Amino acid sequence: MEAIVFYPSPPIGHLISMVELGKLILTLQPSLSIHILITPPPYNAGDTAPYIAQVSAAFPSITFHHLPTAALPPSTTPPTHHEILTFEVLRFNNPNVHHALLSISKNYTVLGLIMDFFCFHALSVATDLNIPAYFFFTSGAGCLALFLYFTTLHENTTTSFKDIKTTPFDVPGTPPVLPTDMPKPLLERDDKVYEYFLEGSYQMPKSAGIIVNTFDFLEPRPLKAITDGLCVLNGPTPPIYCVGPLFVAKDDGGGVSECLTWLDSQPSRSVVFLCFGSLGLFSVDQLEEIATGLERSGQRFLWVVRNPPGRENQSVAISERPDLDLDSILPKGFLDRTKERGLVVKTWAPQVEVLNHDSVGGFVTHCGWNSVLEAVCAGVPMVAWPLYAEQRFNRVMMVEEIKIALPMVESENGFMSSTEVEKRVRELMDSEEGGSIRKITVAMKNEAKAALREGGSSRVALTELFMSWNRT
Ligand code: UDP
Repeated sequence: MEAIVFYPSPPIGHLISMVELGKLILTLQPSLSIHILITPPPYNAGDTAPYIAQVSAAFPSITFHHLPTAALPPSTTPPTHHEILTFEVLRFNNPNVHHALLSISKNYTVLGLIMDFFCFHALSVATDLNIPAYFFFTSGAGCLALFLYFTTLHENTTTSFKDIKTTPFDVPGTPPVLPTDMPKPLLERDDKVYEYFLEGSYQMPKSAGIIVNTFDFLEPRPLKAITDGLCVLNGPTPPIYCVGPLFVAKDDGGGVSECLTWLDSQPSRSVVFLCFGSLGLFSVDQLEEIATGLERSGQRFLWVVRNPPGRENQSVAISERPDLDLDSILPKGFLDRTKERGLVVKTWAPQVEVLNHDSVGGFVTHCGWNSVLEAVCAGVPMVAWPLYAEQRFNRVMMVEEIKIALPMVESENGFMSSTEVEKRVRELMDSEEGGSIRKITVAMKNEAKAALREGGSSRVALTELFMSWNRT
């Protein structure tokens, strides 16, 4: 029997993405066996047990293998950053991965190992065992172009990107990127996390292929730049398989039906939805600016609000956190004054259902790639307010390249004024420019559907991926 082995990094979001890819592969080849390696997380990365139990029950072809805790050498200095810790744990996980692959190989022909970017150290294990290794890149093709071109940018300068400040970089296939729009780990040359990302960028092109959660029509320019070989330094570019959009929506409980019922009572396309991913948090001051901006905009809104940083233990599952007191963190009287046209929900909303509700006409997003794809698939135009990871770069792609979002522009210290919130929300919901990005987003929605249909680009890419296993 034939098997594909998946190797996600520990956070639950990465696991969910891999499982979705596994399910997609099974639609094409139901006789395959999917094996997922689970690495014990070095920090609280979300409780994966209920999710694993649910997937195991629903999909008998998917098997989970729990690896032992990786033995870090005693000399390893405690990392300062959770991303470094992730890289370290995965680096020293290689013997466990080796052992798991060998044991799976006893009963199956392993056609390929699919890993996420953080797991790049396992490339050598796959090579040793003669198993073709693939990367699954969970952000877009623009971001992949940047990651692949990172090695060139690195070799062309001796300065940390953070010190370059105003000169934009020319990354093939993307609009000029200001150093401030680069993902944070790429900014400081002397940082350990920079070293790991750089090494990953050198390793990715050595794989048998890169699977990307995007579709051809959404990002043609960066895709062409990558496949034309403009992004990889000194070597061939592996095959690129754009199989998206893949859906990774996770249900974390919270006021599910309340907001959908409220949306039922609102006019068509009248509501702007504000939601900032699984980790987005704001200070009380920033929440106040958002509230004031929303109130002044005069628009209808559905806003997901979380406790400001430091107010609660973020490592506790969202559904188990103590109830949030909205009156204590929002401006006095705000909820009462806006109750006819606004709803604030605590902590979590069923984003995919909300975006697909007929009353929703706009989305203020933190630019997490899954949120971007979910909005595209619902045909909902966006205002881009990036917060962490590669989201500032995503804003550049969404605003300047794909033209499916208006930018929210922060002050130098990262603060967003109520005036900016008011202006952008109004522009999105009630302006010619808002209308034109809506048209593009709706066109993208139709293209996303077409890509996933039989004969569509993503379906063809999936078939090609499958064929590559039989060739190698
Ligand atoms: N999400 C949700 N409700 C929320 C916040 C987030 O359903 O209140 C989901 C959202 O639909 C998306 C995921 O969580 O599927 C967030 O992924 P994304 O890549 O956008 O951002 P991240 O959380 O990884 O920064």
